[in-house]
Amino acid sequence: MNSVYYTAAKAAKTMPLEALAAIIGVENVIEEGSDLSFYSTDVYRRADADAALVLRPGSVDELSQVIRLCTTQGIAVVPRGGGLSYTGGFLPVQAGTVIIDMQRLDRIVEVNATDMYVTVECGATWKSLYERLQPLGLRTPYFGPMSGFASTVGGALSQGSIFLGSTQYGTTAESVLSLTVVLADGTVVNTGSAAAQGGVGPFFRHYGPDLTGLFLHDAGALAFKARTTLRLLRAPAHSGFASFTFTSHADLLTAMSEISRRGLAAECYGADPYIWGMRLWDDDLMRDVKRLAGVVKAGRSLLSGLIAGARMAIKGRRALAGAQYAMNVAVDGNCAASVQTALAEIRQVARQGREIEPTVPRAVRGTPFLPPNDLLGPKGQRWAPSHGIVPHSRAVALADALVAFFAERAEMLRENGIEWGFVPFAISTNAILIEPMLYWPDAREAYHERMIAPGHLKRLPVLPPNPAAAEAMRLLRLDLTRFWMDQGCVHLQIGKTYRYLESRQPTFRALLEQIKAVVDPQGLINPGSLGLTVP
Ligand SMILES: Cc1cc2nc3c(=O)[nH]c(=O)nc-3n(C[C@H](O)[C@H](O)[C@H](O)COP(=O)(O)OP(=O)(O)OC[C@H]3O[C@@H](n4cnc5c(N)ncnc54)[C@H](O)[C@@H]3O)c2cc1C
Repeated sequence: MNSVYYTAAKAAKTMPLEALAAIIGVENVIEEGSDLSFYSTDVYRRADADAALVLRPGSVDELSQVIRLCTTQGIAVVPRGGGLSYTGGFLPVQAGTVIIDMQRLDRIVEVNATDMYVTVECGATWKSLYERLQPLGLRTPYFGPMSGFASTVGGALSQGSIFLGSTQYGTTAESVLSLTVVLADGTVVNTGSAAAQGGVGPFFRHYGPDLTGLFLHDAGALAFKARTTLRLLRAPAHSGFASFTFTSHADLLTAMSEISRRGLAAECYGADPYIWGMRLWDDDLMRDVKRLAGVVKAGRSLLSGLIAGARMAIKGRRALAGAQYAMNVAVDGNCAASVQTALAEIRQVARQGREIEPTVPRAVRGTPFLPPNDLLGPKGQRWAPSHGIVPHSRAVALADALVAFFAERAEMLRENGIEWGFVPFAISTNAILIEPMLYWPDAREAYHERMIAPGHLKRLPVLPPNPAAAEAMRLLRLDLTRFWMDQGCVHLQIGKTYRYLESRQPTFRALLEQIKAVVDPQGLINPGSLGLTVP
């Protein structure tokens, strides 16, 4: 323990709670109880040291004031959005840390359909943004992760995120026009055109060096994102869907890469036999039907729609039974003909595969944001994904190497009951993400009980603590981070897990550390995130 550690811990105990309560209201200062451990737990694990305090500011000004008050006392402050990440991004690494929960900053400040942008506070969820824009016939290019029921816009901007719209429009960062960030000393900075004196509005990102980009994918290490402005699109008038199965991951990835290169799909993602088959032994058919209800609302009546939806789900599940590697595609277009043309070209590209009912991509689009019930596996196991991103030319080799990586550890996996499967995703025209999902038998945390919908949680077996499996998982995840680095992968969701800094060239690393020293001279914003030194 060094002296700064002691200073922080001591300062936290003497934190002027009255002054904080005067800024954000006493009800938004959490200083004891189970909430501290809840806020200090992510999907994968609980922090070694719980936060000393959780603060819940409700405006940009309140955020700025509480950050300034904490950092002038030498207290580390950590931004937390919906808490749905699994790479330790918001977990305190030293005693005396204050977590700042961003979820009260959830206003949609301006929808500008003339200049085609939306300004939103960063604690808003993707679901709330989607639901606000949908009736207006508008959408952001990237429009949310699968966790968007509860995960926030700020979390995705800080982690880097892909899913809805990402095969067409790339990561969250590529939709951003401007940010309002709060630095360690409480200074509020606007970026892009919004930085003009006199205020000309947040309509353009690249006016001079891209300071917006500096803060994106920063794992919350450089500043707090308070507000952002995202580009708007007219929501596509037509969508179409297709699903295929393949007999090898090479055929699957080859087809995905070609669809991505040709720019044919809004989303193109797959599943290996383990993950695809999981939908079968998870006998939650009603989940599919519920999702499909969203799709079929436009039908003659909800009831007939539900019946049609249920039939489709059953048919889809039958099609899955013999499936091996699966690929799901969603296509957007402004007219039915352009969607059909793209689908015809996709069928041509995927001719090695067998076409099946597109239940999954249709259902996902029907109701994109459901409670995060997949936080635990269908047998009640713990769940944590990992991933690597490569260019198309290396996707098949990466999958081959990944299969070999797990084959080498088969005995250890079997001994500890660890299971795995992977999902690939095509990002824009230029990259493939491969995400192994790891499941292991271990007790759930209070965090999971609070995040999963009660009806779903009730049906999951409760598993006892399994320290041996937990330790095996810790080592496996560590090995995986080296594997990804050796394979030359890049990552979203760097948090405090991937070997980001370690894998950077010395000149890049030095520059980044100098930037950190300018925006956060005492190193008090999210210490350890991105691998930046803990003071
Ligand atoms: C069931 C499930 C499905 C998922 N699906 C996807 C998916 O489809 N695509 C995908 O990319 N990811 C997915 N994820 C991972 C994760 O949910 C997303 O990356 C999501 O964007 C995290 O957002 P959050 O608000 O929960 O962030 P948090 O977990 O709260 O925080 C993540 C990081 O961002 C920082 N941060 C949060 N808010 C701010 C802010 N305002 N300013 C500065 N830093 C901040 C935190 O310090 C932390 O480092 C999924 C996770 C789950 C559990």
